[in-house]
Amino acid sequence: MEGATLSLEGIRAGYGDFQALFDVGLKVSPGEAVGVVGPNGAGKTTLLRVISGMLRPKAGTARFGSTDIAATPAHMLPGIGIAHVPENRRLFPHLTVEENLKVGAYIPAARRRYAEREAYVFDMFPRLKERRHQLAGTMSGGEQQMCAIGRALMSSPRILLLDEPSAGLAPLVVAQVFALVQRIRAEGLTVLIVEQNVAQVLRVVDRAYVLDAGHVVAEGSSAALASDPKIRSAFLGGH
Ligand code: ATP
Repeated sequence: MEGATLSLEGIRAGYGDFQALFDVGLKVSPGEAVGVVGPNGAGKTTLLRVISGMLRPKAGTARFGSTDIAATPAHMLPGIGIAHVPENRRLFPHLTVEENLKVGAYIPAARRRYAEREAYVFDMFPRLKERRHQLAGTMSGGEQQMCAIGRALMSSPRILLLDEPSAGLAPLVVAQVFALVQRIRAEGLTVLIVEQNVAQVLRVVDRAYVLDAGHVVAEGSSAALASDPKIRSAFLGGH
């Protein structure tokens, strides 16, 4: 499938009367790796939910290529190339690794290419191949994160949405997960990654948006953000 631009403008979204996002705009071009960083509760997960169709915005537009995301049923979005690795991975713990990967390939186009996609995922994550018959819930946190990313890759996405892939993982495993993100983007896949681990994420993305209390308060290249004194003191422990 061709690359497509993800474009959000004036997005307002929330839960009941609670507004979590205020006029948020964001753009991700094909082949880019873009980060969304910010403190707890800033609205990062909410933003990814809007993009994967799990939450309808109250105002604004969200488009992926020519598709109006907000007007498309969520289950159709993997078919246009949007794959979401949710917060806390959301694997099926009582299914095996292989069965979890099958779930990721439920769309017809992916089912037809199942063997090819599985070979690709097993090449990227040899550990998953070794453990293909193991119940996902019995694996380590890092292995489960790899399984969640592998499951998302089964659908041949055009954009991969990653929600806090480093959450709850030991530092060494976090480094492995970010190395994988780097490999995925080096293969040309467009990536949008939400993270609290600002220092690590700025090393793997081209650009990032800083979200605070539902507002985009800064955006720029990774290099510019990493050297911005305000960002440094707020997120990077520097001055
Ligand atoms: P975290 O890193 O803690 O996940 P976040 O930046 O991803 O933070 P969100 O999870 O998007 O933030 O939450 C943004 C705001 O929306 C928070 O104030 C949160 O309490 C609220 N919120 C999130 N999910 C719900 C929900 N299902 N119902 C009501 N409020 C919610």
